[in-house]
Amino acid sequence: MQLNMNKAAGDSASGPQHTKVLIIGAGPAGLSAALYAARAQLDPIVLTGMTMGGQVSITHIIENYPGFPDGLPGPELGELFKAQAERFGAKVVFDSATEVDFSQQPYRVTGFNAEYTADTVIITTGATPRHLEIPGEEEFTGKGVSYCGTCDGFFFKDKEVVVVGGGDSALEEGAFLTRFANKVTVVHRRDELRASQILQDRAMENPKMDFVWDSVLEAIEGDNAVTKVQLSNRKTGEKSEFKTDGVFIFIGHTPNSELFAGQLEMEDGYLVTNKFMETDKPGIYAAGEIADPHFRQVITSSGMGAAAAIQATRYLEAQG
Ligand code: NAP
Repeated sequence: MQLNMNKAAGDSASGPQHTKVLIIGAGPAGLSAALYAARAQLDPIVLTGMTMGGQVSITHIIENYPGFPDGLPGPELGELFKAQAERFGAKVVFDSATEVDFSQQPYRVTGFNAEYTADTVIITTGATPRHLEIPGEEEFTGKGVSYCGTCDGFFFKDKEVVVVGGGDSALEEGAFLTRFANKVTVVHRRDELRASQILQDRAMENPKMDFVWDSVLEAIEGDNAVTKVQLSNRKTGEKSEFKTDGVFIFIGHTPNSELFAGQLEMEDGYLVTNKFMETDKPGIYAAGEIADPHFRQVITSSGMGAAAAIQATRYLEAQG
């Protein structure tokens, strides 16, 4: 769900809003942290950011979250997470953090709509789809270039699309796109997929899916919308033109950590935590994809969020 936020000037008349636990981000990690903090009666505030629900809200179907043997749509799972956290008193606020000051306690966070101070902060800002950074990509975003099959697949009914990437996302979203498109061609830079075997098997069996191996896109071209891509074979060096109506890019993610630069320890853009989800500042925790380049699953992010909230609860108890 995309949210509209207008910048409000400074603090409200009553000054910054204070909370014991401020959670930045409302994906599985943030909402799980909210559930645990709310059940510990800490009245957490959750800032949703620009996209409520995080990446789960743009995932067509989640089949590997336990408790749902038939799978369920990502947006529905996100709504259930939110409803459960709210049931115990979490306050989910449509606001996005624009600045943080972690130099002293209470910690201060500036949002589009309000200022917040917090005794503890749980950062769950997740990650954003990575871009190819090739000519035409930016120009044709929304005109044939997309990073979300669930969001944009419908616009490619009876058309042909290219999917870039060889991981779980590329194959899962590629398979979803065959509901609309006549043909989905996966362009992968190697001759071996990274995706899990079950998704590979499904893709190979899908008559609408095809593969171009060892190849990368060098440019995306068109007029008002995408009409073709320029391909380059990494083994032979051969260049070719490939006609297509759309390009879906699934080549991994970049952690949303710019806000914390210079304030918290990072490695390759990911926030560094110990096994208690603690960052290098007391009372500040990170959970989910912002701190996890490795697992990146709904269940692991949720678990990290819960752990962060438990640790924040213990920290507040120790502080009296
Ligand atoms: P990923 O596993 O990191 O795969 C990214 C793919 O993009 C790789 O095949 C990679 O190629 C390719 N790639 C990276 N940079 C590229 C570039 N500049 N040009 C061309 N290709 C490029 O990312 P993901 O598929 O988004 O998955 C992220 C995590 O979420 C993973 O842990 C995955 O298991 C999980 N996930 C799970 C499910 C599920 O369980 N149903 C669904 C979606 C995602 P190489 O292989 O050559 O590196």
